[in-house]
Amino acid sequence: MSRALVQQHLDDLAGQGRRVDFWLRDDDAVRPTPALERLLSLAARHAVPLTLAVIPEETDEDLADRLAAEPDVTVAVHGWSHRSYSKPPAKKQELGLDRPLNMVLDELAAGFRKLEALHGPRFQPMLVPPWNRIAAEIVEALPDLGFRSLSVFGREKPAALPLLNTHLDIMDWHGTYGGRPSDSLYAELLEHLHAEPALSAIGVLTHHLVHDAAAWDFLEDLLALTARHPACRWRAAPDLLAG
Ligand SMILES: [Zn+2]
Repeated sequence: MSRALVQQHLDDLAGQGRRVDFWLRDDDAVRPTPALERLLSLAARHAVPLTLAVIPEETDEDLADRLAAEPDVTVAVHGWSHRSYSKPPAKKQELGLDRPLNMVLDELAAGFRKLEALHGPRFQPMLVPPWNRIAAEIVEALPDLGFRSLSVFGREKPAALPLLNTHLDIMDWHGTYGGRPSDSLYAELLEHLHAEPALSAIGVLTHHLVHDAAAWDFLEDLLALTARHPACRWRAAPDLLAG
């Protein structure tokens, strides 16, 4: 039902000569895996650019070598270790004030340098905080560390550096830990398409390592519906940030 409404809305936009920008961010990559292969081939098949948020601490040349063959993949910095330092019942957070600020910033600087060295032209000076959470004091310091953009979840807000956020999370983190039902994802997408003021680009958030069949099916179906639709443009994050 909701899928048909999304399709109708996109067809209407196309009829008016209007277009919507999308971008795809996938989190938690460390090394090549069968799930990563599946994601890369899905994105390539639909000619959809992809930003991989890579966890710096454990990653190495294996991932860099694999991505060297993928011209439409960029790499962003996903914290340093993806460990949580918050004290329950506080929500999980790596980039909070649970540790001295300098310790956190030193790790982010190390992650930036490591991924830049490994990935060269694919490296994008964007920070993707684990769990999409980051303390305001850390955001303030990001430009001095070399970061040029930040990506979290939800509508973009003014910050010390440009934001390019994700808005549609395909996973059900509070219930099944699998993919959310397709109908509710399309219903939410329809809300994003109607958002006022309009989102500059709708960010879709995926986590290839934990996708079940429902998550893969939705992603495949979403890209089949949109990737070649005249009202949709899937764009690379650096292009969106360049304006
Ligand atoms: Zn993550």
